[in-house]
Amino acid sequence: MADKKKVYSGVRATGRLHLGNYLGAVKGMIALQDGYDCIFSVVDLHAITTPYDPRTLKQSTRDVILDFLGAGLDPAKCLLEVQSKVPEHMELAYYLSTIFPVSKLEDLPTYKDKKALHPKYVNLGLLYYPVLMAADVLLYKGELVPVGIDQEPHLEVMREVARKFNGMFGKTFPEPQRFATEGEYVPSLMGPGKMSKSVTGSYILLTDDLDTIRRRLAGAPTDSGKAGGDVPTEGGVANLFVLMSLFGGRQMYQKFEQDYKEKKIRYSEMKDTLSELIYQELKPIQEKRKGFEENPELVDGIIQEGSEACRKRAQETIREVKEKMGLY
Ligand code: ADP
Repeated sequence: MADKKKVYSGVRATGRLHLGNYLGAVKGMIALQDGYDCIFSVVDLHAITTPYDPRTLKQSTRDVILDFLGAGLDPAKCLLEVQSKVPEHMELAYYLSTIFPVSKLEDLPTYKDKKALHPKYVNLGLLYYPVLMAADVLLYKGELVPVGIDQEPHLEVMREVARKFNGMFGKTFPEPQRFATEGEYVPSLMGPGKMSKSVTGSYILLTDDLDTIRRRLAGAPTDSGKAGGDVPTEGGVANLFVLMSLFGGRQMYQKFEQDYKEKKIRYSEMKDTLSELIYQELKPIQEKRKGFEENPELVDGIIQEGSEACRKRAQETIREVKEKMGLY
């Protein structure tokens, strides 16, 4: 695998995955696992920067691994890692933190958003998050990072850290690029903003059954656009059309677009069709996930073996970095 392009991506251990995670990140991972040298991680060290319950964190980590496996990540093609099992992530993050200015971290939109969301939980780890994320990818000299478009500012930090390190200590790291998928930005079901685990009512989970999908879509607003003319580019109706194009393809999109133009559109019919389309895609994922869930030893083995193999690679980078930085 040595000469293949290196790929890294991580998902926070904050519970089960939703359609945004799936379309923006996991689909990219699946597309890359065949031809690239891939490491995919559940980043539990990032999950502890916002309020969490230590009694359920391990299960949340496992839930993400199960969603990965259900969605089609194949341990024969890629390495699956649990971040906290590879402490070199933290070690590299510390080294990199010594070359990156605090002011730039304070300016990042994700930091500001999280600060506003949890004003009583503004900890050093939260500010440090993008440095740890840079370390996550650079630890494996990752070149391609399949993540949603919301992560672009963090990718920018990563490249800046890599450039700065290379400039100060000699060429060591590549400058990672984002690998974009068609669903790089999945909107919230509630209207404004992206689909996110932290916004109730905004998401559909990969493990939702048809009734739950229907119920969640039923709550999505549709009154913001008046039918006739072009499909709106903002608001609840626009979001439904985005989901329709992602799950129903061009043909389905065009059918409802035509209905919209001719003022014939019935949103209940559109939501019903969309629910079916989403469920059709999720059903095989759920069945595969269940198979892994019923075989906990197999999953333990996948986590253990993947993380051990990652650790070996991580240690090589740490040796190189320490040498270059003049550390013992
Ligand atoms: P969340 O924001 O739901 O807590 P994470 O921050 O753990 O999810 O993100 C995991 C991955 O999923 C990242 O690559 C992120 O870019 C992607 N992602 C999250 N939400 C969306 C979305 N609504 N659309 C596209 N990609 C998304």
